[in-house]
Amino acid sequence: MSQDKLVSDFRNYVKKLVSYNQALAVLGWDLRTKAPRKGAHARSEVIGVLSGEQFKLATSREYEEYLTALSEPDRLASLDPVTRKTVLEGKKEFERSKKLPPEKYQEFVITTTQAETMWEDARKNNDFASFRPYLEKIVKLQLEFIDYWGHSGVKYDTLLDMYEPGMTTAQLDEMFGKLREKTVPLVQAIAESPNKPDTGFLTRPYDIARQEAFSRYVLEKIGYDFAAGRIDISAHPFCTSFAPGDVRITTKYDPNDFRVAFFSCTHEAGHAIYEQNINPDLFGTLLCDGTSMGIHESQSRFWENIVCRSLPFWQHFFGDLAKQFPDQLAGVQAEDFYRAVNYVQPSLIRIEADEVTYNLHIMIRYEIEKGLINETMEVGDLPRIWNEKMKEYLGVVPPNDADGVLQDVHWSGGSFGYFPTYSLGNVYAAQFAHAMRQQISGFDELIAGGEFAPIRTWLKENIHQWGKMKSPSELVHDITGEAMNADYLVQYLEKKVKDVYQL
Ligand code: ZN
Repeated sequence: MSQDKLVSDFRNYVKKLVSYNQALAVLGWDLRTKAPRKGAHARSEVIGVLSGEQFKLATSREYEEYLTALSEPDRLASLDPVTRKTVLEGKKEFERSKKLPPEKYQEFVITTTQAETMWEDARKNNDFASFRPYLEKIVKLQLEFIDYWGHSGVKYDTLLDMYEPGMTTAQLDEMFGKLREKTVPLVQAIAESPNKPDTGFLTRPYDIARQEAFSRYVLEKIGYDFAAGRIDISAHPFCTSFAPGDVRITTKYDPNDFRVAFFSCTHEAGHAIYEQNINPDLFGTLLCDGTSMGIHESQSRFWENIVCRSLPFWQHFFGDLAKQFPDQLAGVQAEDFYRAVNYVQPSLIRIEADEVTYNLHIMIRYEIEKGLINETMEVGDLPRIWNEKMKEYLGVVPPNDADGVLQDVHWSGGSFGYFPTYSLGNVYAAQFAHAMRQQISGFDELIAGGEFAPIRTWLKENIHQWGKMKSPSELVHDITGEAMNADYLVQYLEKKVKDVYQL
């Protein structure tokens, strides 16, 4: 077979795989936003059948033959860059699926499906003991998977690589070490500060239609393209991409708390702006996607926190907001509002945590995952370990396991290695923002002027357009000239806390 024919057959095969993914994503979006409750069962069956077909395509003999032929070194070197990267990406995923015996994978799917239901009950009944055997089985299966996949000395690294290619425990130890050293004292200083922001005006009745209008107004200004997206409502906000021309987000409204919808909208829009600006030529390959969970999260945190929780941002937008909510915000100034949305308080629940304490919540989960996967901790000890770490890092102890070790769904789904990407997102976002300040003149002035085009262009050129063409470490290196570095996040948090708490 000629090389041209081989390449075009391979590209068509990949397009078919991607088309299944897209169809499944549309069905999933519909299920979570629009579908009537009675349709859920039938929809789940359809999703199951199509996922099975997709899995067959992704593990077929035919696909393996394409990947083997095209990854032969001389041939690989002669391919165009997009095809070459698609081959390498496809090969990595294929080998990961192929190394697992199908019955092992089946066992994992069944176990995690049961465990998610058990977790829901265990959390409701504050009963860790009932969840414990499921979690033990999941950890055991993860360890077996690592044996099949192989590891380079540190077992946990194999799991990290699935969510953040190339990331290692050594890098994360250093990152979390810095965050622990610098943010734990920061949280203590905040607790002792007499200058706490007033937040009372954030939790007055805020009309939902007006909240929605304000969010849409801001998203348009920051550059979420409504001609290539839409906003709907779901229980848990999310972003889903079918193609750069169709990237949808969801939010949820709290009629008595302005922050809930606004900051979830700016967060999800950050994910969406990334996907909307991937080079459209990558559509139909395996590369039309964010390059990693951590880089994706850096884009949502950048808009949500670094831009939309900054003083220049509220200097620009507070007037518009106060016009929409004159009674709720009577007597409030832009600066008061900025301080209020940056309130810091150690709390029990990760998803309610502020910018400063958030990483400490993640650090606890990281240390526990590492302990379980590297076999230095046991599942039975987790409630005690959890509470000890909460006390040490955050100074608060959960009154029960429901608000402690049982609060997150991730472990019941077997997603070990995922949590650290949340903190990586914060670290990358601060590092990118530092580079932007050097490369875009008048960064803060642009924000204060509501002028976001130069920032968006920078993001598109340096990050978004590449999709998966560059790895996370390549992106960070190309942009900043150094490796991932938590110093910038520490500096950013210290500066903001000093400002908000007048330390
Ligand atoms: Zn996110």
